[in-house]
Parts: sequence; structure tokens; C-alpha cells
Amino acid sequence: MIANQFEYVAAKSLDEALALLARHKGNAKLLAGGHSLIPALKLRLAQPQVLIDISRIKDLSYIKEEGGQLRIGAMTTHYQMESSALVKKVCPLLAETAANLGDIQVRNRGTIGGSLAHSDPAADWPAAVIALSAEMVAAGPKGGRSISADKFFVDLLTTALQPGEILQEIRITPQKGKVGQSYMKVRHPASGFAMVGIAVNLVMDSTGKCQSAGIGVTGVAAKAYRATGVENALKGAALDARTIAAAAAHAVDGVEANSDLAASADYRKQLAVVYTRRAIEAAVAKAK
Ligand SMILES: Cc1cc2nc3c(=O)[nH]c(=O)nc-3n(C[C@H](O)[C@H](O)[C@H](O)COP(=O)(O)OP(=O)(O)OC[C@H]3O[C@@H](n4cnc5c(N)ncnc54)[C@H](O)[C@@H]3O)c2cc1C
Repeated sequence: MIANQFEYVAAKSLDEALALLARHKGNAKLLAGGHSLIPALKLRLAQPQVLIDISRIKDLSYIKEEGGQLRIGAMTTHYQMESSALVKKVCPLLAETAANLGDIQVRNRGTIGGSLAHSDPAADWPAAVIALSAEMVAAGPKGGRSISADKFFVDLLTTALQPGEILQEIRITPQKGKVGQSYMKVRHPASGFAMVGIAVNLVMDSTGKCQSAGIGVTGVAAKAYRATGVENALKGAALDARTIAAAAAHAVDGVEANSDLAASADYRKQLAVVYTRRAIEAAVAKAK
């Protein structure tokens, strides 16, 4: 199909994009990498009257350390995340997640902010930002506000961003101590999206006991979620094979799993449990 007609405006700054959003109220959509929006336009699932292109706003594309945090501009591409020496050093989970996402064309064009704002239930980034307890900084007509990753994903394709707001930055506070991180996914055979994606962020003490655990799950339900049952079972425990397997069994506690042609709900749940165990084992093995 061909998209409905729309007006196109390329914003040169965040302020200009915010002003354009305010001017066109609910009739405009932001265009970042376009890898989710353009297909939605072509299928007429989205029919905005105005497209506000934010892909040329240089100030929204960066990876830096500031105020003891890793700060990532929303327009940073998946490939920039995958290849950044700073990301690999400070938060390898993010680089690993990026490397697992789509193919090289998708990673070159798609942005972390576009992916998070889209809240696709099978997207990879949501699991990682939940595991890392990231903060999402939204810019809006009344200034900026910070939204925790736990509150950001509201439902299928729905986030806590309000009309008129733009996701500006993702902030991660690196943890101290012996940190082990891992991202593992089962790729959909056709699209490559996550049928199940598990992000793990562990901190261990010198004896190998788990001090804190962050486990984000994507692909399983209508939105990505924190596997609280797994986290609670890991906290304070020695991370041996038996404890990890017992903890991973809680990966889908209380979750209504998706069912589609590629995987039934029961199969998805089973995959989630198995891959949670594998991802925790991998995080423990990589800890330093
Ligand atoms: C062939 C293919 C394979 C893919 N495989 C994967 C995969 O394996 N895993 C995965 O996670 N993803 C995958 N993707 C999706 C890809 O990661 C996209 O980059 C991502 O979904 C959207 O990012 P984008 O920059 O293209 O956003 P766009 O498509 O431009 O925008 C997506 C939505 O977010 C809104 N938006 C964009 N930026 C902002 C912002 N800063 N603030 C507020 N709203 C904003 C837009 O208005 C739109 O509604 C795939 C895509 C394709 C085409």
C-alpha cells in the first residue's frame, strides 16, 4: 500500500521539533530512523498529517559520561551503540543488545530512542533498559522530566510519553563492584525480532553471592517487563547452577504470554525460562 499524503518538515533543533509538535497537536508524528514508522505509514496504521523529521538534529545523537552516568541521545543509532568503546567499557549489556538487533542495515539507521518510543513488544532495547533501571528523559512544552524504565512501557506500542513530548535522552547509572551482564534472544525466523529476549544485569560480592539483580524480558507479553520473581530469588544467593535454574523458573510468573504462528504461549513461556537461565549463567561467567 502507499502511505496517505502528509506534509514533511525537517526540524533543526529539539526546540523547533517541540514547537512543531505543539503547533500540529495530535496530527503530527516524529520521524527518527523510520524503520518502524515508514512500514506503519505504508500499511496506513499511522496516518499523520505532518511528519516531523528529527533525524538531522545533531544534538540528539551522542554517547557520553556525565554526572556519574552514561547518557545516550535518543537519535543514537543501534550501530553507534554496538560499536562504542565507552558503551562496551561502562555498560557492555547495551553493546551486546545492539549487536543482537536486526541486521546491519537496521542497526545503521534505526535509533535507540525510536525503538523505545515505539514500544514494540518484540523489540530488544526495552529488556535492556529495564534490567539496567535506566531513566528516560522526555522533553516537553513545560520542560523536561525523567521516567523510570519500569514506568515507561505502558502497553502494546504505548509508552508514558505524553502527546507533545520527545524522548531526548536515556540515562544509566553504572553499578560498582563485580558486575555481570548478558543479553540473549531467540530470533523470530523471518523478522529477526525477539520471540524471547532476556537482559541480565547482576552485581556480585567477592564471594560470588548476588547483591542485586536486574532481569528484563521482551518478546513474551504485550510489553517488556521486569522479572521480579527471578530477581528476588537471586538476591543474596550464591549463583550456582541449581539456584540459577530455580530462579529462572519464575521468569513468566503472572505473565499472559503472546501466541502467534511462530510460537504458542506455552512454548514462549518455556523459551523464556530456559533463556533466562542461560542468560544468567552467561552473565555470571562474564562478571568482572
Ligand atoms: C527489517 C527490520 C528488522 C528489525 N529487527 C529488529 C530487531 O531484531 N529488534 C528490534 O528491537 N528492532 C528491530 N527492528 C526495528 C528497528 O529497531 C527500529 O529502528 C525501531 O523500531 C524504531 O526506531 P526508528 O529510529 O526507526 O524509529 P521510527 O520508525 O522513526 O519511529 C518509531 C516510532 O517512535 C516515534 N519516535 C521516534 N523517535 C522518537 C523520540 N525521540 N521521541 C518520541 N517519539 C519518537 C515515532 O513517531 C514513531 O511513532 C527492525 C526493523 C526492520 C525494518
